[in-house]
Amino acid sequence: MVLLIVKKICEVNMKNTNTCSKCQSNDVVYVKGRTGSYGMGNVIMLRAFSPINVSSYICLNCGFLEEYIEPKDLEKVKKLKKSGKI
Ligand SMILES: [Zn+2]
Repeated sequence: MVLLIVKKICEVNMKNTNTCSKCQSNDVVYVKGRTGSYGMGNVIMLRAFSPINVSSYICLNCGFLEEYIEPKDLEKVKKLKKSGKI
């Protein structure tokens, strides 16, 4: 019997390491996603449903930008996916 071992490659990202994944600089800032008035803030509108806040990690050395949807908003996206709306 062959035992298959699936090795999961640990994803290196700025969210977990606070280090730029492009230039390895530690000069990374976190910008929390906010919902502002129309057209303001770093948000995604999914077909006029409630806005999805996007938080960013920005490398101040090379300018690389990584974006993440907040966990609570991720649930909204999952629900939309489940209901077939996206
Ligand atoms: Zn960088």
